[in-house]
Amino acid sequence: MSGTDVTRVLVIGGGIAGTAAALGLHKAGYDVTVHEAHPDTAEDIGAFLTLASNGMRALAQLGAADAVTAVGFPLTSLRLLDSDGTELTHAPLGEVAVPGLRYRCLRRGELNAALQQEAARRGIRVCHGARLAGVTDGPHGVAARFADGSTAHADLLVGADGLNSTVRRLLTPGVRPRYAGQRVFYGYTGTAPDADGTGVITFVRGSETTFGQAVSPAGQTYWFARVSTGPLPVGGSAHPSPWREELLPLLRKDSTPAADVVAASQGPVMVTNATELPLGTVWHTGRVLLIGDAAHAASPATGQGASMALEDAVVLAKALRDLPDPQTAFAAYERHRRPRVEHNITVSGGISRGGRNPARPGPVVARPAEPDEALVRQLAWDSPLSAAPPEQP
Ligand SMILES: Cc1cc2nc3c(=O)[nH]c(=O)nc-3n(C[C@H](O)[C@H](O)[C@H](O)COP(=O)(O)OP(=O)(O)OC[C@H]3O[C@@H](n4cnc5c(N)ncnc54)[C@H](O)[C@@H]3O)c2cc1C
Repeated sequence: MSGTDVTRVLVIGGGIAGTAAALGLHKAGYDVTVHEAHPDTAEDIGAFLTLASNGMRALAQLGAADAVTAVGFPLTSLRLLDSDGTELTHAPLGEVAVPGLRYRCLRRGELNAALQQEAARRGIRVCHGARLAGVTDGPHGVAARFADGSTAHADLLVGADGLNSTVRRLLTPGVRPRYAGQRVFYGYTGTAPDADGTGVITFVRGSETTFGQAVSPAGQTYWFARVSTGPLPVGGSAHPSPWREELLPLLRKDSTPAADVVAASQGPVMVTNATELPLGTVWHTGRVLLIGDAAHAASPATGQGASMALEDAVVLAKALRDLPDPQTAFAAYERHRRPRVEHNITVSGGISRGGRNPARPGPVVARPAEPDEALVRQLAWDSPLSAAPPEQP
């Protein structure tokens, strides 16, 4: 299989990694189709996330920064409080001097919709309601079979189908996501006390929780709390709304605004497990490659999963564009990406597992303010991707 034989690419999953990869592959000249299981873009509408400066840089390389900055709001500084409400630090966040690289807080559904609309605007096909069920990888191409009985054929298949990836299960049946030691609660309120400070993300190192909140320009407080405890019961709880009641006593142990924010939440308090994939997960075989959470899901403590997925998209498109054949491109992609994303799995998992006494001193999350020059070169659309990353000094 040579590079010139490859024209058609199937992307499985129309989330962050998949849609961004489609934008990159289309920009590199490939004929791409995205197959997304959900019937519309409203999946996961409840959750929110922050995109870091590195993720915004990747979006800019895909020409998709404007589409994404049309939704959500920027974050320019990080404030850290301890469990008695004392401010420990208040520092600029990320590459704040460049407006297009500022951290951005947005709802997950908004981000997916913005990326999918940008894909549609460029003429990329995004098929909704297409749940992958099987893959046949052969010498002349790859075939995807969907739950509704339909099939699609291409030269390559990119598995961007998230944490519980079907593509990964078909590639490496033994690999399973594992619990990273924390439950993550989150919600919203328009009536939080003292809800000002737009542009600031406030972290609270509580005695039993790590809490975070950001206030939108419209006065909506987006909050999360990470709690070190056992995983959620399989099949959910019999109690109709237990999460607020589980969380509030933990937050009330501290003299911080966190408990009042949660108490003021309209709508449900949502919760999910922090989950990660083991290091060394196989990423590719034949004509099939995994990206995003399907390849390297990390616990959410560093807040980097979506940004890593956006970086993946740029590097994959450059690898296929610049290297002579898909096998060389997949191998180069892996050499460039694996050290960085596995470092994130390790650091983020370490924060989640070490979170039993979050009040002790030490950084919550490393947030570099200076651009990482090696990453800048790796992502720069106009500079070719090398077959191997340069040795780190
Ligand atoms: C509580 C929580 C908070 C987080 N906060 C942050 C944060 O602040 N910042 C950050 O950067 N990251 C954060 N993350 C991580 C981030 O959400 C993920 O890393 C990111 O969503 C990965 O994108 P993805 O496209 O790989 O996977 P996903 O976003 O999961 O997308 C996968 C897509 O594939 C589709 N799909 C699944 N199976 C199939 C199938 N069989 N056929 C077709 N389609 C399929 C799904 O419907 C979905 O649309 C957080 C994660 C959690 C759990």
